[in-house]
Amino acid sequence: MADEKKLTPQEELASLQAEETRLRVEMMRDQVQAARQKKEMFAHQAKVHQADQKAALDRVKRSQASCKHRKGGLGVDGFVTGNGNDNNYSVAVNTYPWQETVVQCLRCGKEWHPPNCKCNPKRPSTLEEYNEARRFPTDNSPSTAVTFDNTYAPVAV
Ligand SMILES: [Zn+2]
Ligand SMILES: [Zn+2]
Repeated sequence: MADEKKLTPQEELASLQAEETRLRVEMMRDQVQAARQKKEMFAHQAKVHQADQKAALDRVKRSQASCKHRKGGLGVDGFVTGNGNDNNYSVAVNTYPWQETVVQCLRCGKEWHPPNCKCNPKRPSTLEEYNEARRFPTDNSPSTAVTFDNTYAPVAV
């Protein structure tokens, strides 16, 4: 058998290294594919989630837009559509420790923050809207109770 060639150790090493490289490339290809699929799945989920959130936000906006922020109204009409007809507004007026007074509708949840809002959970109202909300007549007593979740309470030393 003249063509039977015994590999030198160097040749054998080179052959093994080539095989190892092939296997590595194959594994990397699998990993990249799996990562790509995962990424696509996440992107899809994010899209679905975003659509859900947008729908929920639209619902809130619609109910806030149609809400009259007033007490009264009959049954479902009054509460669900916010079609109140009372002279009194269904709002709570809260003053926070940082001297910010926020008006909140108890029916639709809309909040009016002053233009210099410091908590900034939502877009602050324009001065006009805010002043209008502050003038809403209501028989609810204003509150200075801190209902704010004070996560950053200073620690006593
Ligand atoms: Zn309202
Ligand atoms: Zn605010």
